Amino acid sequence: MPGTYKTTGLVLRRRPFRETDRWFVVLTPDRGKLELLGRGASKIKSKLAAHLEPFSYVQLLVASGKQTDTVVSAVLIKRFQTLSQNIVKKTWADYIAEIVDCLLPVPHADPTMFRMVGATWKNLDLIRLSRGDDYIKGSLVITGFVLKIFSRVGYQPELFHCGICRRRVLQNGNAYNFSHGSLICPACQGGTKNSRNVMPVTGLTIRILRYALKQPYGNIRRLKVSREPMREVRKFIDQYVTFHLEKELKSVKFLRYFEKKSHLLSAQP
Ligand SMILES: [Zn+2]
Repeated sequence: MPGTYKTTGLVLRRRPFRETDRWFVVLTPDRGKLELLGRGASKIKSKLAAHLEPFSYVQLLVASGKQTDTVVSAVLIKRFQTLSQNIVKKTWADYIAEIVDCLLPVPHADPTMFRMVGATWKNLDLIRLSRGDDYIKGSLVITGFVLKIFSRVGYQPELFHCGICRRRVLQNGNAYNFSHGSLICPACQGGTKNSRNVMPVTGLTIRILRYALKQPYGNIRRLKVSREPMREVRKFIDQYVTFHLEKELKSVKFLRYFEKKSHLLSAQP
């Protein structure tokens, strides 16, 4: 069909538009992030809506227009079912979508980023979330996603060497300087200790962050971490994301509220 193109993509989010239409944000490997109009997609019997649920991997036929591209047809390849069924998983998926929105301009094809989001969804989908440990597993997967995707756009944190003297960082007494984008060893911390952009980090936190940065998601999900180090890792990730995006994400506020209310990372009794 002239004026159309085929692609596959991950449906990151949707929002209502006019009475019966919807906008969809879809991450594709070959065309980057697309904002597509789905006509009639909010009608109950819409075939399009049945295939175009958020957190699905779909095959699309799209009509390109001057102002907007419109979905002609959609075929579901895989649905990451539990991401839309569980409120915490949904918030993690929204968090991912918010980060992709901030980091990836439209249109800019990045197959690696596409694979990262797909792998993160897959691993979050595999977690059962029936125990507190599972929440830690999910938080670790998110940690891996954040470190990998920010590294992809040029903000890889230096977690192995001191950013000032370049010596390899050893166990304890180190701090991470968010402005430097690196760890700072005890000898080089000098007057920066009380800076807003400096956070002391334990040797265990450094090891977890290194692991999450370098290992595939399947390994990260299987790592055994208890609540206390997870709290520090999570604090690091929150500050790291806020520093680079210069804002706090909406989904983070909800996650922290839920975490507190359900005592998911608080000290064990
Ligand atoms: Zn140093």
